[in-house]
Amino acid sequence: MRRTNFAGLLAGLAFALTVAAFVTTAQAQTAAPPYVTTKVEGTDNVYIFRYAGHQSMFIVTKAGVIVTDPISLRRPAAKAYIEEIQKITKAPIKYVIYSHSHYDHIAGGKPFKDLGATFIAHKNAKARIAELKPADVVLPDQTVGDKKVITLGGTTLELHYVGKNHSDSTLVMRLPKEKIIFTVDWIPLGAIQFRDMADTHLPELEDGLKKVIAMDWDRLIAGHPGPGGRQTGNKDDVRNQLAYLQDLSAAVKKALSANKSYADAQKEIKLPKYEKWGGYEAYLQMNIERYYDFHNRGI
Ligand SMILES: [Zn+2]
Repeated sequence: MRRTNFAGLLAGLAFALTVAAFVTTAQAQTAAPPYVTTKVEGTDNVYIFRYAGHQSMFIVTKAGVIVTDPISLRRPAAKAYIEEIQKITKAPIKYVIYSHSHYDHIAGGKPFKDLGATFIAHKNAKARIAELKPADVVLPDQTVGDKKVITLGGTTLELHYVGKNHSDSTLVMRLPKEKIIFTVDWIPLGAIQFRDMADTHLPELEDGLKKVIAMDWDRLIAGHPGPGGRQTGNKDDVRNQLAYLQDLSAAVKKALSANKSYADAQKEIKLPKYEKWGGYEAYLQMNIERYYDFHNRGI
């Protein structure tokens, strides 16, 4: 009897596995690909390539294409990115520009390098990549100090360094004619800062936001979509982010002056104005800890 039962169990399991495999295959065949390309409304040639939760801006000109982050860490996004570009144009991909040094945005550029693209990043990003030698990150060919201007096929793209913020190598890429900027991770759309704000420099982050508000632009392409899949923002997003950081900073400072511990500050500080923002539940306590360290220890 036991033997029969075991055989029956195995047969049942095999059947279940077959059904599961069939369902998985059927889902794989019907599921949308993890990427999509969107033309930025009102422009002739500015696009956003989104792969899962990461976004990258690219600009198509007759003389070639300017690409930004490859967003290919441990996934084949670059291959899809190149295929998407080649559906639009056969012009060569001339540049790949890194937004900052973090791997989740800049890994996987080799397929672009193989096509002859010139890689550009802030000088601190190049130094960091040269030092850490991450697997699958192409070392930049050219670097930016405070500013560099690229012109290609009638498009002008300015690369600005506004100081340390979410890294010490973040560029603000500005298209002056289109009044669009692309800058990554430090100005989330309708969301608080990521986790414990690793690699983030305070108080320079707030200074940088003020500099970006003072620049001439209308639309911001972020490195990740905001809640609801929103891909672009405007100056209100920057002003709101600055207000959030100032409110958070003031709340932590107040807790410190009342001799609250890390744990009590994390437990007691609430910022209801931002409770609908992305990451509020998951990351607020970590954001608090970052500001606590800054005010308490100057780090
Ligand atoms: Zn980052």
